[in-house]
Amino acid sequence: MERFLPVLSSAKNVVVLTGAGISAESGIPTFRGTDGLWSKLKPEELANFDAFLRNPELVSEWYKHRREVTRVAKPNAAHTALVEMEKLFSHFTLVTQNIDNLHRRAGSQNVAELHGNIERNYCLGCGKRYDGEDFDRNNSFQCPECGGLIRPDIVWFGEMLPSDQWRTAEVASSEAEVMYVVGTSAVVYPAAELPMTVKSHGGMIVEVNIEETPLSEFADLSIQGSASEVMTEVVEKIKEYRRVAKESK
Ligand code: NAD
Ligand code: ZN
Repeated sequence: MERFLPVLSSAKNVVVLTGAGISAESGIPTFRGTDGLWSKLKPEELANFDAFLRNPELVSEWYKHRREVTRVAKPNAAHTALVEMEKLFSHFTLVTQNIDNLHRRAGSQNVAELHGNIERNYCLGCGKRYDGEDFDRNNSFQCPECGGLIRPDIVWFGEMLPSDQWRTAEVASSEAEVMYVVGTSAVVYPAAELPMTVKSHGGMIVEVNIEETPLSEFADLSIQGSASEVMTEVVEKIKEYRRVAKESK
C-alpha cells in the first residue's frame, strides 16, 4: 500500500463501491459468505415482484424482520472511515449495493444507492411514500389512502436499477482516479461493471475483502482483511501521508 500512497492521497476523484461485506461486522449477514443468509433462507423466492403479488403479507413480514435487524445494527468503523474519507477529497462518491441505510446513518453525504433503501416504501396504487419507522407502527402492507399494495423501494430480482442512481455511479466511475471496492464479491451485474469502467480509462482499483474475488486479479491493489480494519488504516495513512508531505514543503 505504501507504494500507492502518493496516488491515493493526491486523487481528486474518488469512488467507493460497497457491498454486503461492509455491513457484516455490524451483524447484518451477507448473501454469499460462508454463513450467508442465502444458505439458510431463500431470498430469491421472496425478493421478487411475483412473490410479492402472490403473498404480499409474507413478503412484507420478511422485510419488516429485515428492518428490525438493520435498525438494531450500528454503523461500524468501516462506515465511519468512509465518512472521514469523504471529507478528504473534493469529488467523492459512495456507491452502495446495500439497502441497509447504514452509510446514511453513519453520516455519508454523497451516496448512490443502486439497490434502493429498506427504510423507504411506496404504494403501487397511488405512489404515496411510506418512509421510516412510522410505517412499521401502522403494520400494514395496504395503503390507507387507496387500498393499493405498499412495497419496499428496493430493487428486486429481475428489476431495473434506479436510473438516476445508476447514472451517478457511472459518471463518477468514468472520472475516478481511484475506486475502492469494499466487501463485495463483485459478481452481481451491473454493479460489477463499474470497476471495469474505472480500469478502462486508467483509474486504479483498490480491493478490500476478507477473501479473493473474481475482481482480485484486475485490482491494482488487493488488500485482504476486514473492511473496518483496512478502511480505518487507509484513511489514517492518507492523512499521515498528506501531513508529512505538507511539513516537508
Ligand atoms: P455478497 O454477499 O455477494 O458478498 C459479500 C462479500 O463481502 C464477499 O466477497 C465477502 O468475502 C466479503 N466480506 C464479508 N465480510 C467482510 C468483511 N468483514 N470485510 C470485508 N469483506 C467482507 O454481497 P454483495 O456483493 O454486496 O452482493 C450482493 C447483493 O446482496 C446486493 O444486491 C446487496 O444489495 C444484497 N445484500 C445487501 C445486504 C445489506 O444491505 N447489508 C445484506 C445482504 C445482501
Ligand atoms: Zn395508495
